[in-house]
Amino acid sequence: MKAFDYYRAGSPAESTAAVASYHNAMFLAGGTTLVDLMKIDVLTPDTVVDVNPLALREIEVTDEAIVVGANVRNSQLAWHPAVRERFPVLTQAILSGATTQIRNMATVAGNILQRTRCPYFRDVHSACNRRAPQSGCDAIDGFSRGHAVLGVSEHCIATHPSDMCVAAALLDAEIRTMKANGANRTIAFNEFHLLPRDTPHHETVLDRDELITHVVFPTVPIARRSHYLKVRDRASYEFALASAAVAIQLDGDRIVEARLAIGGVATKPWRCVAAEQSLVGKPAAEQSFREAAQIALTGAVAQQHNAFKIELAKRTIIRAFATITEVTP
Ligand code: SF4
Repeated sequence: MKAFDYYRAGSPAESTAAVASYHNAMFLAGGTTLVDLMKIDVLTPDTVVDVNPLALREIEVTDEAIVVGANVRNSQLAWHPAVRERFPVLTQAILSGATTQIRNMATVAGNILQRTRCPYFRDVHSACNRRAPQSGCDAIDGFSRGHAVLGVSEHCIATHPSDMCVAAALLDAEIRTMKANGANRTIAFNEFHLLPRDTPHHETVLDRDELITHVVFPTVPIARRSHYLKVRDRASYEFALASAAVAIQLDGDRIVEARLAIGGVATKPWRCVAAEQSLVGKPAAEQSFREAAQIALTGAVAQQHNAFKIELAKRTIIRAFATITEVTP
């Protein structure tokens, strides 16, 4: 592990100024991604700027939204009574990820910024455009069972690993940030992560000195009837092969509004707007969900080992909608 300098910041302004002024500096929050990757030399900052002391640990609840400080721990958010009531999909998604110990340590902002689990990304002896721009991609002709089928490019097929982010995409969350020059901005969650295209090393729209300060979850009635279904190789401490976050509003057995986002199969948290629109006015029935699932996976591109994910994702979507509408698939 490379030696590094440690700086403990006292305010968001101090943190962003430090990252802007120190060479090759990075923010450190829960450390569950950054420290892991530093130990295996995938990330090699010269300075880490510890943002844990910052007063960004509050969950503020109003009628309009739940505003979550960037340093709120995953467990704290998942078990908050207002989150469980308004956004069951968010609670379920968070609790399906990692382990209790990791969820107690990992922050909300860190979850959003976590890096891919592509094994070639985590092996400095492999070619990886995301870790080392223009070095190639060993995954495309390698073992691709866990890789993405949506949003891929010829330069990267890495899956976005987060469960919480799939729920955040469904809920139209917003991200508030602050930069070293004092500028603040609000970014729509679904515009925050970037597709790999030909620059997979650019993963988000954040500038280097830009700190996430809050994540805002607007109150939407449809989210009270929502659900997260995660399919994986084992029941705990495992990333999704496919997952679906769903929400629905019914009038009798007719669908008034539906929302769908999927994970485990795409290079970023993947909202499925066309599939949602296809459900409006249809009966809450397996055939409707099957048609929506077909639309959601339109354009999927498989590699040698991950074609099974396309059908698995469709079945996950159908099962998730069937669960919240109590339809037997
Ligand atoms: Fe790197 Fe992406 Fe290729 Fe994985 S899929 S080796 S992260 S470029």
